[in-house]
Amino acid sequence: MTGEMVRADNVHKSFGSLEVLKGIDLVVKPGEVCCVLGPSGSGKSTFLRCVNHLEKINAGRILVDGELVGYRERGGKLHELAEKDVAKQRRSIGMVFQRFNLFPHMTVLDNVMEAPCRVKRENKAEVRDRATGLLERVGLGSKMGNYPGQLSGGQQQRVAIARALAMRPKLMLFDEPTSALDPELVGEVLDTMKDLAADGMTMVVVTHEIGFAREVGDNLIFMDGGVVVEQGPPREVIANPQHERTRAFLSKVL
Ligand code: ADP
Ligand code: MG
Repeated sequence: MTGEMVRADNVHKSFGSLEVLKGIDLVVKPGEVCCVLGPSGSGKSTFLRCVNHLEKINAGRILVDGELVGYRERGGKLHELAEKDVAKQRRSIGMVFQRFNLFPHMTVLDNVMEAPCRVKRENKAEVRDRATGLLERVGLGSKMGNYPGQLSGGQQQRVAIARALAMRPKLMLFDEPTSALDPELVGEVLDTMKDLAADGMTMVVVTHEIGFAREVGDNLIFMDGGVVVEQGPPREVIANPQHERTRAFLSKVL
């Protein structure tokens, strides 16, 4: 334990000639909830994807729990990790997307059990106990035998959260987890995330839900054009943004 669950130093990422991240610095301490806001195209998803090495960064470095993501340092040089070592790092980081991507042909319980059983080859009975507990925790104890198609969007997203938690991650990344939901289903997913935060999970949450950021966030990052324009305690940033770009954005989403 390093006192820093996530550390990004001067992270740059380009797609061809398009520079999407132009030097991102960020620290998330264990147990903190970091909310990331910013207009569409500002690089929020790309940054999250860099944190678990789904995208390779071009410069800078990212550490998760003190460990370089995607690379190993030897003799002052960075060497990219082998695919199996990348996969191992990724297993300790849960990710929840806008789209739930559940396996449609598997029951809710099997969806949650799949990765620990197949990827980690854990004992099936133990995984079943844990998956059952997680589904109860997200309020879906009665839906374990159902198929995803029989569930509402909000319920499916809660299954996706339980599925990520089944791998016992030390960090959870959320990329606009409520953006695809009907408005009346947003609250149940945010409540689940709030419970998770209260339980001490370290979370990075890209969201436009200002209320959630204000209530649950320990830190708020406002990104625009591939840079962190401003950051601070959510209440302060929201009530008293220091930059015109932050003000303009907040006036649109508040
Ligand atoms: P946000 O999540 O803030 O809306 P993204 O990180 O998705 O922003 O995208 C930032 C920019 O990077 C956009 O201009 C987008 O078109 C571009 N981009 C994202 N992924 C790719 C990719 N795989 N190839 C090329 N361009 C990409
Ligand atoms: Mg995005």
